[in-house]
Amino acid sequence: MSVDRAILFRLATSTSLERVVKALPRGRDTAWRAAAPYVAGINTDDAIRAARELSDRKVASSIDQFGELVDDPAVAQRVTDDYLRLADRLTDADDAWLAIDLSHLGLDIDPRGCADRIAEIARALPDGRRIQVGAEDYSRSDAVLACVLDAADRGLGDRLGATVQANLHRTPGDVERLQHAGVHIRLVKGAYVEPPDRALPFGEPTDIAYLRLAHQLAATNTPFALATHDGVLREALLASLGPVPIEQLLGVRPEVIDDLTARGIPTRVYIPFGDDWFRYWMRRLAESRGA
Ligand SMILES: Cc1cc2nc3c(=O)[nH]c(=O)nc-3n(C[C@H](O)[C@H](O)[C@H](O)COP(=O)(O)OP(=O)(O)OC[C@H]3O[C@@H](n4cnc5c(N)ncnc54)[C@H](O)[C@@H]3O)c2cc1C
Repeated sequence: MSVDRAILFRLATSTSLERVVKALPRGRDTAWRAAAPYVAGINTDDAIRAARELSDRKVASSIDQFGELVDDPAVAQRVTDDYLRLADRLTDADDAWLAIDLSHLGLDIDPRGCADRIAEIARALPDGRRIQVGAEDYSRSDAVLACVLDAADRGLGDRLGATVQANLHRTPGDVERLQHAGVHIRLVKGAYVEPPDRALPFGEPTDIAYLRLAHQLAATNTPFALATHDGVLREALLASLGPVPIEQLLGVRPEVIDDLTARGIPTRVYIPFGDDWFRYWMRRLAESRGA
């Protein structure tokens, strides 16, 4: 594991750092100005506006309300209600999907209830839309997979998406199970620092795994997308697989999205919004330094 990556990751997920920065005179405002390119805003209207602007440029989107690690059933219900309202608003933006981390829906406290909640949101989506489930740290991989498969089993596979992390040793097996369930699969490198018995190091080993997984995904009819800002990986895969959909994060290399769209390659941008933007921004900052 690269020490730099581990340190930056710890800083980026540190609530103490967030508290210190926000307590500084003008600390919050300065941080918010720097974070703004990566975040649609604080409320639903901001997110829908960002999705509409993208759709005017023929770019699809996935809207995510910040949040994770919910351990209170009342909060999990409130988040579900927020997502049901968001699902209603999706008709305002062409090809906008939703995105969520299942720990935000109370996965840690009630996995079965979490499957019920994700299924309820999936059913509320307009036809043709999906809710993409994020990949969290390794300790939640089994629970996240089980929850997605449970919801897909209720006839909702074509309304769901899963995210798989190329750095994890387990991912080729997870991909097979998700392909079988018919859910959309988003392939990422993996944002979490994990030990060697669970994951490949970042850099070349993860990049090679990413290439192999992309070919595994392309070998069946399952819908999938390549979510990466790595231009070399992306262009190598587009050259070998054809115009596979590419996904990026809001604010990261936006010029690439315009170039891809002009080349007729389907694109989708992840749009996060909400109050809890600080640590998300720190992670993007760390990744922009190559961590
Ligand atoms: C749509 C989407 C959804 C994702 N969902 C998940 C998820 O659910 N779970 C998960 O673990 N991870 C997720 N990720 C994050 C992913 O795992 C990586 O941590 C992140 O995308 C960086 O990896 P990369 O593929 O862009 O490659 P990298 O090798 O990190 O980056 C490639 C190039 O892009 C540049 N770059 C990267 N970030 C920035 C930036 N902020 N500003 C400027 N340049 C930058 C780098 O400097 C480098 O030159 C998601 C990523 C995307 C795009």
